[in-house]
Amino acid sequence: MQQHRIIVLGAGYTGAVAAGRLARRLHRDDVAITLVNAEPDFVERVRMHQLAVGQDLRTRPLREMLAGTGVGLKLATVTGVDVEGRTVTVEPNGGAGAGPAVEHLPYDTLVYALGSGWDDQGVPGAAEHAHQIASRPGALRLRERLAALDAGQPVVVVGGGLTGLEAVTEIAEARPDLAVALVARGGLGDWLSEKGRGHLRKVVDGLGVTVHEQTVVTRVGADRVTTEDGRGIPAAVTVWTTGFAVHPLARATALETTGGGRIVVDGSMRSVSHPDVYVVGDAAMAMGPGDKPLRMSCASGTPAAWHAADVIAARLTGGKLPDSKIRYYNQCVSLGRSEGLIQYVTADDRSVGAALTGRLAAFYKELVCRGAAWGVAHPTLGVPVRRRRVVAERTGTGRVTEPAEPAEPAGSAGAAGAGGAQV
Ligand SMILES: Cc1cc2nc3c(=O)[nH]c(=O)nc-3n(C[C@H](O)[C@H](O)[C@H](O)COP(=O)(O)OP(=O)(O)OC[C@H]3O[C@@H](n4cnc5c(N)ncnc54)[C@H](O)[C@@H]3O)c2cc1C
Repeated sequence: MQQHRIIVLGAGYTGAVAAGRLARRLHRDDVAITLVNAEPDFVERVRMHQLAVGQDLRTRPLREMLAGTGVGLKLATVTGVDVEGRTVTVEPNGGAGAGPAVEHLPYDTLVYALGSGWDDQGVPGAAEHAHQIASRPGALRLRERLAALDAGQPVVVVGGGLTGLEAVTEIAEARPDLAVALVARGGLGDWLSEKGRGHLRKVVDGLGVTVHEQTVVTRVGADRVTTEDGRGIPAAVTVWTTGFAVHPLARATALETTGGGRIVVDGSMRSVSHPDVYVVGDAAMAMGPGDKPLRMSCASGTPAAWHAADVIAARLTGGKLPDSKIRYYNQCVSLGRSEGLIQYVTADDRSVGAALTGRLAAFYKELVCRGAAWGVAHPTLGVPVRRRRVVAERTGTGRVTEPAEPAEPAGSAGAAGAGGAQV
């Protein structure tokens, strides 16, 4: 019997977790699980603002993290997916002379988890002049640039969302000698509770950050940003954090995607157009509680990855489909190394009155970041290994395939997750 080939694209928070969990769920004789990633190390994306200000992050080689899990690692850049022919095209990153320039990897089940990058939103000059912290190369470039700045030089962080808040406070704390400013389209932390907003304002003021609220940047130049009302704000360095955009790769496939290129999935994180494709993390457009799309985050992406892995395992082994739903618990925001904010939220991510602040919140956030990385290396979080046998139905090609569909549990529209990494 040939093994069922599962290919997971992307070893970020969600792809690595999904691959590891699948390996714990399925019998090793029955499946071949391959995790494809461009970089050899696991990148703690939630710490890119720390990397940018000069902190050294622990190196986490994927090979070490996956050792003994049964997941095979393929270091390669994904350049195409043929969802009709069930093949992934990759360029191996093994160095010169290491093999063919392009490989085609056939799959029976695909898990797409290629994450996202920064979104310059087409603002003139942003792509050319702004820095970003959505990726490690971006954070390292910013790190070099910040290190080269002299005292008093202006740094502007554009974007008042979670990433912008983390970036601006980290920079202001690490470099109190710089003139650091934040530009926010709305009010400072206007989605937070009164307590959360008050604390954020206190920390930002304490760090000497100038806040430009209700301000929209319409152009980025080499030494300033220009706002909608024609003002120029000096910026020797501009950091752009207004949101994430997904890789154009998915849009080039036959998969059903949104206008922005996220792949549309159902409540089991399965593509609505191609049932042998599952999508997790930032690349997925899944509806969550309150019929709102899940936001690009580990907070929802990690439980979605657990759910997808459990669904795939259930479908392959003829088991009962898991009935779990994603919900949000809190938004954990670092405000430099010694301050933080844990804003408690409703299931659909709206702030409630309660918030944890100060050093305790900073410590909590640090634990959560560590826990998220730990969870990648320990994908079942202490849950016993259940390596079930794949139900051996054979196609004309003799490959193990999925058994007939078990009944969908009632109310499984959301995706997943029993608590866990609420980063
Ligand atoms: C500074 C910062 C702070 C953040 N803080 C938080 C937070 O506090 N809480 C929270 O919930 N979320 C936070 N996020 C968001 C969170 O990091 C993302 O939502 C999360 O990483 C998405 O996981 P993912 O698995 O979809 O993608 P990623 O973690 O980005 O992983 C994608 C993987 O795919 C690989 N890859 C991409 N393209 C290719 C290719 N063509 N070929 C091969 N490999 C490829 C990448 O190398 C990477 O390993 C933060 C993000 C940033 C940038």
